[in-house]
Amino acid sequence: MTEFSSLTRVIRAGIETDPAQGAVVPPLYSSSTYAFKAFGERREFDYTRSGNPTRAILGEALAELEGGAGASVVATGTAAMTLALITLLEPGDLVAYPHDCYGGSWRLFEELRAKGHYRFEAVDFTDTEAARERLRELRPSLVWIETPSNPLLGVTDVRAIGETGHELGAVVVVDNTFLTPLGQRPFELGADVIVHSVTKCLNGHSDVVQGAIVAKTEELAERFDWWSNVLGVTASPADSHLVLRGLRTLHVRFERHQRNAVEVVDAIKDHPAIRTVYFPGLETHPGHELAMRQQLGFGSMFSIDLAGGEAAARRFVEGKRLFSLAESLGGTESLVAHPATMTHVAMPPEIQALAGITPGLLRFSVGIEPAEDLIADLRASLDAALG
Ligand SMILES: *Cc1c(COP(=O)(O)O)cnc(C)c1O
Repeated sequence: MTEFSSLTRVIRAGIETDPAQGAVVPPLYSSSTYAFKAFGERREFDYTRSGNPTRAILGEALAELEGGAGASVVATGTAAMTLALITLLEPGDLVAYPHDCYGGSWRLFEELRAKGHYRFEAVDFTDTEAARERLRELRPSLVWIETPSNPLLGVTDVRAIGETGHELGAVVVVDNTFLTPLGQRPFELGADVIVHSVTKCLNGHSDVVQGAIVAKTEELAERFDWWSNVLGVTASPADSHLVLRGLRTLHVRFERHQRNAVEVVDAIKDHPAIRTVYFPGLETHPGHELAMRQQLGFGSMFSIDLAGGEAAARRFVEGKRLFSLAESLGGTESLVAHPATMTHVAMPPEIQALAGITPGLLRFSVGIEPAEDLIADLRASLDAALG
């Protein structure tokens, strides 16, 4: 028998598996609890915190997409990060994380550090040799990688950094939110664990918050499932039902997102209002060659630093019509964010400066609208930014 492709299996996840009515699309099982067959005879599911049929189909589809042994589907991307840390670390263990990571990751690490649970050290992973040297000094138990990074799209060499982490006995975790399994294959690059903010591209319609943690091995997958129930961070069945629907179109959405991003960046990159464009698809981007080698595409995110600073950013935002001023990313609608006052506001100004977040920086999530409309709107807003 022919083995169907992984993509086909994801598009058809749970299709025609309903034992009761033969529903083509798997029904939403919202019940919190499940009757035992008889005294002492448990069915496959007993209580939705520990397991749920709808969430289980989604978990299998996510594991299939990443090529992992299993996936735990949890309430938010942040819950997935928390689950990873609590499951993998002992008190006092050291985590090496990227100096320019997502603001919420930084806040989580910082607050757990302040409580004395674990130790955290920020490392610039985009300079591979210096980062390997630093890791050998630090000897972390866990290496946390986020690539491309948020919001400057710095690219980390997952294979090289992961190898050094493994030499030191560390577990290697990759936050693969920005590129999705269709844009980057962390397990093939040596990662042990992948975390996702499912909220973003995987759901893709900005109507759910959810997270997932995918394990390379069966043993790790079981530990994550165990701890997600212990901590009570598992995702709701209704959200899982919506995400399953979103996931079936991920490949067509993501192709359009990526194509739009390349076209939009190409059309605006020389605009006089812009000082720097951050997009791994540009030859001038410091991570371009690595991205060409390591990624399957350039993703749907780019940032620009406006020459006129915060005043220009304000004029841009007041002039735009299509890009909604909002946090988050990966939805069908295009968004713009001002990291210094939005996504990265939790970072004090000096840490923002170290991460390269300037007052004139704007971050874009390119949606799937026709590219010519996005380009027209961006050009008009950039003209407005000039003042
Ligand atoms: C949004 C995001 C998260 C956090 O996910 P939530 O679903 O908002 O909790 C983590 N990492 C990255 C890269 C993100 O963009």
